[in-house]
Amino acid sequence: MSPLGRDEELFSILDRERERQSTTLQLIASENFTSRAVLEATGSVLTNKYAEGYPGKRYYGGNQIVDEAEELARRRAMDLFGAEHANVQPHAGANANMAVYLAVLEPGDTVLGMRLDQGGHLTHGSPVNASGQLYRFVSYGVTESDERLDYDQIRDLAKAERPRLIVAGATAYPRIIDPAPLRRIADEVGALFMFDAAHIAGLVAGGAHPNPVPEADIVTFTTHKTLRGPRGGCILSTAEHAKAIDKAIFPGLQGGPLEHVIAAKAVAFREAAQPEFKEYAAQIVRNARAVAEALAGEGFRIVSGGTDNHLILLDLRSFDEELSGKQAQETLDRAGVTLNKNQIPGDPRSPFVTSGLRVGTAAVTSTGMKEPEMAQVAAFMGRALRNRSADHELATVREEVGTLCSKYPPYPG
Ligand SMILES: *Cc1c(COP(=O)(O)O)cnc(C)c1O
Repeated sequence: MSPLGRDEELFSILDRERERQSTTLQLIASENFTSRAVLEATGSVLTNKYAEGYPGKRYYGGNQIVDEAEELARRRAMDLFGAEHANVQPHAGANANMAVYLAVLEPGDTVLGMRLDQGGHLTHGSPVNASGQLYRFVSYGVTESDERLDYDQIRDLAKAERPRLIVAGATAYPRIIDPAPLRRIADEVGALFMFDAAHIAGLVAGGAHPNPVPEADIVTFTTHKTLRGPRGGCILSTAEHAKAIDKAIFPGLQGGPLEHVIAAKAVAFREAAQPEFKEYAAQIVRNARAVAEALAGEGFRIVSGGTDNHLILLDLRSFDEELSGKQAQETLDRAGVTLNKNQIPGDPRSPFVTSGLRVGTAAVTSTGMKEPEMAQVAAFMGRALRNRSADHELATVREEVGTLCSKYPPYPG
């Protein structure tokens, strides 16, 4: 087709990224390895098709087959989570959240969300995000004593602020967020309740976490984190909000949907409905607990004392008062351990420096690693950070990381 031949310049970059992903440890809590079927659908001919609108109501011709793919994705999402309505078109989690705000709020409305420096997400009212510029977000946080959400405090805040919407969900909170008390609070103050399950959607699908769908008016999530699907977003809701949400996504916020990604979402929803996925979700949590325990043994303080989900937050100060999250992330990168710096509750350092690290187990669990490997991972981290000025030692750790990774290839063969 092309007279140019294979694009070596670009594809050699892809080859190097494939190599990086399979020879270093992927501990970023929002990342995962999709199945080959998800990759295949994402790279399919559906990328060629324009399909503005919704199945049966498109602006362009030739959508009969695409409609089937999108309907399949919608149906599978609704079945997987027990929802009355699904919109599978959000290009990402951020778009899903903005669409919900557009659907149920007026500019200036008050919204309750989790503090960003304690685990909340940018789209939950950050001043640099449209959510914080268009709506009046008021934040709740974790307690100083146990670093967990306190539902009585959230109730008091809700009664004082009378929000139109209560948003739950986090990007760096290692504990279960219980949807039931939040539903009661929303009812008490006459607010709508949205649960942003971006991180934990896979744990919910796999039965390792309570399902927020029966409690919340609206649930948003990303398909690429613990759910192990393609990069994208999804909105579930009661039938009552279906029309407003669909309108908010298109034509409100987005143009043509990414039907190749929607097809890959359908694949991921089917995979997440299999019995093996239950075992996967449970193993993610077992691995997080194992790595938390081993890291505590290395001298790191574990924020909130442990984890219920796929991630842990480390307080580096107990390990080394001088070591910032930024330095730790850079050091570990050199040792072949990929993760991110993260603020911890009450962090005296800025978000660009931080005193913490976030460690996630979804991706390594996808490769088949279990508790013994988690102990090795923690040991690599402790060793690298203790020897952060010794290049030779970092190189040795990187080599051993490579040996471990070679036994757990994300895409064997
Ligand atoms: C990751 C995340 C999002 C946004 O997802 P993107 O696909 O990156 O836009 C939204 N909310 C929470 C809680 C998240 O963790």
